[in-house]
Amino acid sequence: MKDCVELLLNWYNENRRMLPWRRDKNPYHVWISEIMLQQTRIEAVIDYYERFMKRLPDIQSLAEVSEDELLKLWEGLGYYSRARNLKKAAMKIMNDFQGNFPDSYDDILSLPGIGDYTAGAISSICFDLPEVAIDGNVMRVYCRVNCLDLDVGDLRVKKEIGEKIKKILPKDSGDFNQGIMELGEVICIPGGVPKCEICPLKEKCKAHLKHKETEIPRKVQKIKIKEEEYTLFLLRYKDSYALRKRESGLLKNMWEFPNTEGFLTYEEIRKMIPSIQRIALSITNTHVFTHKKWYMNSYYIEVNKKDPQYTWVTLEEIEKNYALPTAFMPFYEEIKRRH
Ligand code: SF4
Repeated sequence: MKDCVELLLNWYNENRRMLPWRRDKNPYHVWISEIMLQQTRIEAVIDYYERFMKRLPDIQSLAEVSEDELLKLWEGLGYYSRARNLKKAAMKIMNDFQGNFPDSYDDILSLPGIGDYTAGAISSICFDLPEVAIDGNVMRVYCRVNCLDLDVGDLRVKKEIGEKIKKILPKDSGDFNQGIMELGEVICIPGGVPKCEICPLKEKCKAHLKHKETEIPRKVQKIKIKEEEYTLFLLRYKDSYALRKRESGLLKNMWEFPNTEGFLTYEEIRKMIPSIQRIALSITNTHVFTHKKWYMNSYYIEVNKKDPQYTWVTLEEIEKNYALPTAFMPFYEEIKRRH
């Protein structure tokens, strides 16, 4: 792997993608982009990032933004606890670090929502510290270059790879970390066949030389996903629609359409909602979270009075002020279509 460091740096310097958060080494920019990029593709993040920076250009504005506005800015990215942690971390920076982003690995790691990967990325990219940032891309490239048949889902393997890479880190640790990640994203890709013919490491890569690149790294057992069924009520009274805040569990504090577990029949719904004037079966949607899969049926229901347990809002108000999780967006599109 040591032989590959220079090849990788040269390749990265010539081929790096110009992304908005790479215009400078401002840790605020790198931090927000790294959190957004967790579980979301780069192309999808760019618009969110630009919108976020326009409204919250610095740590202070993030520390002072209301939670509802922050969640609205985050709407569509999912994993809303990450957005809440951003605000908590910004408040900690304002209180404990006089508003300056901390410049040591341990201080960065002490911020809410920042784990060893993000701390390593910010430390190396923004402060040139000799820290590694190990994600799935890095582990895949490392295992292939060294032809190691390891279980990359095992945390001990991750730690071991981190220690090995730390020993060969060049002075440009940030470029190295970004280079190996980018190689894993665009050339040494997961699933399918890596693009070895255009890879700068092809002459050094042991897996490629042994024709084992598609066998490495070893496939890890997928976690079992729990499946749940829900019925959603798209309740309309004149020009307003019913929303409620989720009180606990997954997506806590996010807004949602009223719903109940299980697939309900017309009769069951009529018993549950006596104020129904008109009811029609509406769209279905399936949403997959990390550990759960929701199957959702919905009914479009016009009622003759507002149930006070819900918050009744117009479409314009939803658009401006209410962050709906991605799982509910198709239903929002549906009420807009029918309005
Ligand atoms: S030669 Fe192929 S397997 Fe090896 S690092 Fe490059 S893309 Fe990955």
